[in-house]
Amino acid sequence: MSKKIIIGNWKMNPLTPKDAEKLFKNIAELVSRVKKTDIVICAPFIYLDRLTKIRTSKIKLGAQDSFGLDTGPFTGEISPEMLYNIGARYVILGHSERRAMGETNELINKKIKGALASGLVPVLCVGENQRDENHEYFNIVKTQINECLDGISKNSNSKIIIAYEPVWAISTTLNQKDATPMDCEEMVIFIKKVLADKFGAKTECPKIIYGGSVNTKDAGDFLNGGGVDGLLPGRASLNANKFMEIVKICEALNK
Ligand code: PEP
Repeated sequence: MSKKIIIGNWKMNPLTPKDAEKLFKNIAELVSRVKKTDIVICAPFIYLDRLTKIRTSKIKLGAQDSFGLDTGPFTGEISPEMLYNIGARYVILGHSERRAMGETNELINKKIKGALASGLVPVLCVGENQRDENHEYFNIVKTQINECLDGISKNSNSKIIIAYEPVWAISTTLNQKDATPMDCEEMVIFIKKVLADKFGAKTECPKIIYGGSVNTKDAGDFLNGGGVDGLLPGRASLNANKFMEIVKICEALNK
């Protein structure tokens, strides 16, 4: 069985390079003995270069967005090739906070293709804004997956990570509500079915992870009962001790 993975999403934090280095160093020290869990920190672009210089064999670096093409007249954009060249290996794409700024499935699809072509692992975020009685939220997630993965080959499919992040459960959402491991498991089963319909039942399924206010109290429940291969904590990844607790919980469950 492949290792479980914990991916920290720092979002637009912390405020200074000094604080970013301090947080990263603290996490690196705490996770130095971890063996059975893959660990990724997705930091703001401007910190990535200096974080790669901090020695750790346990943490891979990731970005929180990237453009769909390698180079060219795209003012303000950062390409996946540039990210790979400075040492990033993962990139979060289609996060709900970017979708809320206007990012479409079509654009995310281009970004996923660009990331794969540059050797980055795309962490595709999907998730509904709210749950409705008619279960329309399943269709929303299905459309996100089908459109974001349009034209992706069977082989590339297994190189992607899918993060199920119900927007209503993310810590910064107004009137946030906690999702349950059962909510998660049900969606994971559905996502696997959507992927099997798209790529064939025999195609290796991507890792599916969960994000949405994951904390030290519920990480074990999601890993145990949510049917996932890992977690994507946001807020909890800004505290080295809390992040380590989550990694420890994962490590204890990894066989
Ligand atoms: C996120 O937005 O990716 C996330 C999961 O954040 P939080 O853990 O803070 O809800």
